[in-house]
Amino acid sequence: MLDKRTQSLKIATAETLATLQDMRRWGVEHIYENSPSAQELLPPCAELESSNSTAAPCRVETLEEIRAEMGDCQRCLLSSTRNNLVFGAGNPKAALVFVGEGPSRREDEQGEPFVGEAGQLFNNILFAMGLTRDAVYICNVIKCRGPHNRDPGVDEIAACAPFLKRQLNAINPQVLVALGTLAAQSLLQDKTPISKLRGGWCSYNGIDLMPTFHPAYLLRNPEFKRELWQDMKQVLQRLHSKDM
Ligand code: SF4
Repeated sequence: MLDKRTQSLKIATAETLATLQDMRRWGVEHIYENSPSAQELLPPCAELESSNSTAAPCRVETLEEIRAEMGDCQRCLLSSTRNNLVFGAGNPKAALVFVGEGPSRREDEQGEPFVGEAGQLFNNILFAMGLTRDAVYICNVIKCRGPHNRDPGVDEIAACAPFLKRQLNAINPQVLVALGTLAAQSLLQDKTPISKLRGGWCSYNGIDLMPTFHPAYLLRNPEFKRELWQDMKQVLQRLHSKDM
C-alpha cells in the first residue's frame, strides 16, 4: 500500500510525463532554461507612464533599457561638446550606489565614471571599505561634460535628472552616497552646502542617503579625507545593519 506522499508524487510524475508527451506532439523538442519569466515579458512601467496607461501590469525597467532609450542623447546643449555620454557602471543590483556630479575630462574621454586622479582616490576609498567597483554602482547626476568644465545649467540638470531617477529605481539600492554639492542638492532638493549636509543621514525616496565630499574636492583639500572616512564608516555600519 503506497503512502499518500508517494501516491501524490506518482500522480504528479504521470501528469508531467503526459504534458511532455503532449508538448512533443506540438513539435517542442527542447525546454529552454533561461526563457524570460512572465514578469520579464511585461512592459516597463516607465513606458506605460509616458503613454498614460498606468493601470496595466508592468515591471521595473532595466539599466540597459534606460541606456538604450537615451541613445545619442541630444536633450540638452551639453550634447554638443561632449565626447562620450557617461551613463554609469557597476553592479546593476548593487546594495550601495555612489552618485557624483558630472563627468570630468578623463571621464568624458573614456566614457567611464570615476576615472583619472579622483577615480583613483575613489578606488582607494572603496578598497578601504573592503569593496570593489564591481560590487557597487557608480554614476553621475549629469551624464555629459560641459564646455570648459562649466557647471550645468538648471535646464540641463532638469533634462538629465530623470535618467538618474530611473537608474536608481532600476537598481533599488539599500544605501546611496551623494558625492559633492550637486549630487546631494539634486537628490535632496536642498540648497544646504555639502559641508553642512555631510555626515548626517538623509532619505531619497525611502533610501538611506549619506551626503559627503566628492573625491575631486578631496584632492584639492586633503585635510577633509578624515571626514569622508567617518562618513564611509557610517555607510558600512548601515549596510551591515541591513545584512548586506
Ligand atoms: S547631459 Fe543628459 S540630457 Fe543633456 S545631452 Fe547629456 S545625457 Fe542628454
